[in-house]
Amino acid sequence: MMKSIRTLTFRWVNAYLVKNDAGFVLIDTGMAGNRSTLEHELRDAGCTPGDLKLIVITHGDPDHSGSAAYLRANYGANIAMHKAEAAAVERGNMFLSRGRLPFLRRVLKPLMRLFRLRKRDRFTPDLFLKDGDRLDEYGLAATILHVPGHTSGSIAVLTDDGSFFSGDFLENRTRPSVATFVDDAEALKVSFERVKSLDIRTVYPGHGKAFSLDEIG
Ligand SMILES: [Zn+2]
Repeated sequence: MMKSIRTLTFRWVNAYLVKNDAGFVLIDTGMAGNRSTLEHELRDAGCTPGDLKLIVITHGDPDHSGSAAYLRANYGANIAMHKAEAAAVERGNMFLSRGRLPFLRRVLKPLMRLFRLRKRDRFTPDLFLKDGDRLDEYGLAATILHVPGHTSGSIAVLTDDGSFFSGDFLENRTRPSVATFVDDAEALKVSFERVKSLDIRTVYPGHGKAFSLDEIG
């Protein structure tokens, strides 16, 4: 059973530490540069190395996956993500989880060197999550949803009591909305139509404050 949700905010990006009967599940990690804050938060929450049961990465972008390798090394927890994101984190290239983006790719290419996982922060996931997978064995009564659109292997975590950790599939940068940084608009639309019918009480986005799904107009 889920006991509590701790929002870890690193400047513009969130990670979530979810406490349950077995220990903790961390959803995203923030970027590599926020490691001391991250560790302080874990300690403050009472999460010691043996208590961290799993690190779920919603997608491979460095602001979400930046401390995954470090945490695995220091806490011994496995890293789980969608298979379609593996190449991006193995090679530190966020375009490898994106099929389209021809325009953005051109515009962003010069920035890529600034916005990529450094060698020591790259990693190979320990396990792959797909749509419908459950997290009960890590103490969390929750289901994985594959929600492509922002990236091809974006996933979200929906707990049985209606907390929805959306990664960048949904966001609240300036207001609640679907992803504004879009790789595949059609896939994003399909993903959103699908989650609208689900029993979601609160959305915990990768960027911005928590909100309720019906705030997305
Ligand atoms: Zn992000």
